[in-house]
Amino acid sequence: MASAASMPIARELVRLDARPADKAAAIAEAGQLLAAAGCVEPGYAASMARREQAANTFLGHGVAIPHGLGEDRGLVRRNGLAILQIRDGIEWNPGQVAHLVIGIAAASDEHIAILRRLTRLLNDPAALQSLFTTDDAEVIIAALGAEPAAAAPAAPAQDLAERFDWVVDYPAGLHARPATRWVEAARATGCRVQVRHGDQAAEATALVGLLQLGLRPGDRITVSADGRDAAAALARLRATITGLSAQEKADAALAAQRAAAPVRGWEPAGPLVALAGIGASPGLAIGRVHVLTQAEAAIPDTPLPLAEGGARLEAAIRATRAQLKALEDDTARRLGPGEAAIFRAHAGLLEDPDLITLTCQLMVEGHGLAWSWHQAVERVAGSLAALGNPVLAGRAADLRDVGRRVLAQIDPTLAGGSLASLPEGPVILVAEDLAPSDTAGLDPKRVVGLATAAGGPTSHTAILARTLGLPAMVAGTAALLDLPPSTEAVLDGGAGRLHLSPGEADLAAARAFLAAQGEQRAREAALRAEPAVTRDGHRIEVAANINTPDQAGFALAQGAEGVGLMRTEFLFLERGDTPDEADQHAIYRAMLAALEGRPLIVRALDIGGDKQVPHLRLPVEANPFLGVRGARLLLRRPDLMEPQLRALYRAAAAGGPLSIMFPMVTSVPEVIALRAACERIRAELGAPAVPLGIMVEVPAAAVQADALARHVDFFSVGTNDLTQYTLAIDRQNPDLAAEADSLHPAVLRLIGQTVEAATRHGRWVGVCGGLAGEPFGAALLAGLGVAELSMTPRDIPAVKAALRGAELAGLRDLAARALACGTAEEVRALEPALRAMTQPAAQVAA
Ligand code: PEP
Ligand code: MG
Repeated sequence: MASAASMPIARELVRLDARPADKAAAIAEAGQLLAAAGCVEPGYAASMARREQAANTFLGHGVAIPHGLGEDRGLVRRNGLAILQIRDGIEWNPGQVAHLVIGIAAASDEHIAILRRLTRLLNDPAALQSLFTTDDAEVIIAALGAEPAAAAPAAPAQDLAERFDWVVDYPAGLHARPATRWVEAARATGCRVQVRHGDQAAEATALVGLLQLGLRPGDRITVSADGRDAAAALARLRATITGLSAQEKADAALAAQRAAAPVRGWEPAGPLVALAGIGASPGLAIGRVHVLTQAEAAIPDTPLPLAEGGARLEAAIRATRAQLKALEDDTARRLGPGEAAIFRAHAGLLEDPDLITLTCQLMVEGHGLAWSWHQAVERVAGSLAALGNPVLAGRAADLRDVGRRVLAQIDPTLAGGSLASLPEGPVILVAEDLAPSDTAGLDPKRVVGLATAAGGPTSHTAILARTLGLPAMVAGTAALLDLPPSTEAVLDGGAGRLHLSPGEADLAAARAFLAAQGEQRAREAALRAEPAVTRDGHRIEVAANINTPDQAGFALAQGAEGVGLMRTEFLFLERGDTPDEADQHAIYRAMLAALEGRPLIVRALDIGGDKQVPHLRLPVEANPFLGVRGARLLLRRPDLMEPQLRALYRAAAAGGPLSIMFPMVTSVPEVIALRAACERIRAELGAPAVPLGIMVEVPAAAVQADALARHVDFFSVGTNDLTQYTLAIDRQNPDLAAEADSLHPAVLRLIGQTVEAATRHGRWVGVCGGLAGEPFGAALLAGLGVAELSMTPRDIPAVKAALRGAELAGLRDLAARALACGTAEEVRALEPALRAMTQPAAQVAA
């Protein structure tokens, strides 16, 4: 094992105020010192020079560490370090000046210990600077020779100046999500913050280190800090740490409740051996098991100059971070912020300095970038997994996953590939865990289900399987991986069970179950082009939320009767500049053409809140959801609103049923001002009048719907924002995601009030928020009197089917019962009543 003793720094090997003419002379001088001390054969200096040509050994901050080539290890007689202090510095590479040249002679990798000390010194510029100028060789020997306390198990970790003790009361221990919050809070203090458990300590700003403490419920820890206002900083951090307890306990209670709930799924006819896990994506799959062995892809080890390696590593990490952010945003939009939070935690793992330092150290030793990164990830993940704590084992899987993403950025040829040898389907894919890229790229014709040994219901496998509609089970334990190849199985992704080797009767029952599910989906799909007319003859318009003309074909194929919401801010968000009037005009014309005469509601720009457009350089707001957003911005920025309105009126003049809708309206004067702008531009262009509507997204608009109805032609309720503003829950906050339920009776009452007021004034109300796309939510909205529902295209068939199966009178009754409920849970408990109501229609349709 590496130790200070195995890498002695002898006094005669330290040369103060050395003056080599150039880099080559410095390397030669270090080599001579090592040879003179008997550490190396004379040829070693030449090997050091050759090594330098293959890979740069400049570490940064004025330090270089020349050493011999790996194949010349035979020239090393004993380990040693030779140190040249070059006060004036010499140019190591263009722009890089070395003041301390540390020649290394090491037969194996013992010099990692010294590199570790060096990288710590690199983070302490003042200490390093003193080594460049000191007259005392012992100062250098002490700085490079002392093993830091954290690395010496005998020396218990010391607390910092200010401290508090806390007993971990998170039922699942410190796992990645709360740990990410600790790291964010610790970083925000600007202080050095340490968390100690017994003899083990970790910097609170480093996620992997924190997780490596393996904190379990009941563990007593000491959190301490050094730096400016450390006491106040620590108080804030303490509030974060203790503030998370309630949510952690609530999550655990929910998980326990779910686990205790009777398994509702497919029941085999006779007793079958089943492996149990956690249901992650509902549905039944019948197939043969294919165990994906993590065939280690050969990672090439091609040395490269250190500076280039560092730059490429930084670029790969930056690109991965952007990829994770996009995944987080996309998942939040499709499945909610709770599901998306895991990707933020993954991004947090990339911030870990230990991982980066270890990679750099391996590169300094002469290894290639991809190889070094892979090794670093494996070493850290291996140490997490070895602690025997299931929470940390999960984090090890996360770390490996993030590691693979970075690896794919470093070298795209190293991305996946292990799925290439899948047998012909239907296959139930079994793996330790799957990376998002694996899951996203699966061929659903061959892979009918997924079962992983690791992961959790919020793991990427679970999220993506739900998105893809693939039945999936996670956390099925390592027993899964020992299954003989091609074992026949039935996977129940709802109950989290893999039933093994079913007999003929069971297979027949499973096939019948699957067929019934498939038939229901097929029935919905077959009738998707038909209108949504209730059994008593009431029609509800069903439209799509799409943003670009190229999405229209799919929307129409799903049964969309028009577009109820075209979010135009995406035209700005998806490009780096502002589309001008001509660009916008062309897009609106193309959208009308693609809809072939069906109605189009275009929403004027809704910028602000979570939809920030960097190139507009709008002022930064402390609380953008309550700031200059939507209509407020449009009225302040005619340069944005007027070209858009001109483009819209010109498109309307060219033909097509177009309506304009304004977002985030809160008051009558706003509507009057917006209408006036529309009328002025319409008159200037000699364009026809078009229906003008507003979004109902804030409680003020719902409560004052009667006053607003005098000035608008229609309303469209944005349930995403209406829920956020009614319940005072940030729609992006993952901790509150479960409570941000649009079926909260307070939200439903506001929608009911809006419909009543609009009806009194002869106006219609649509809903284009997420609630419109849930069959049960859509049924309640129809019962409340909503005339049009607009949603993500793929939700259309099921929503139409739910509406078609019911009678309006029944839906009205259901809606009245929902309005009388006390909580969102009580409202959701009415869902079986809807099913009971729609059952006969489904049979009729069949
Ligand atoms: C809404 O808030 O429900 C809505 C449809 O608008 P967006 O999601 O674009 O804010
Ligand atoms: Mg909105």
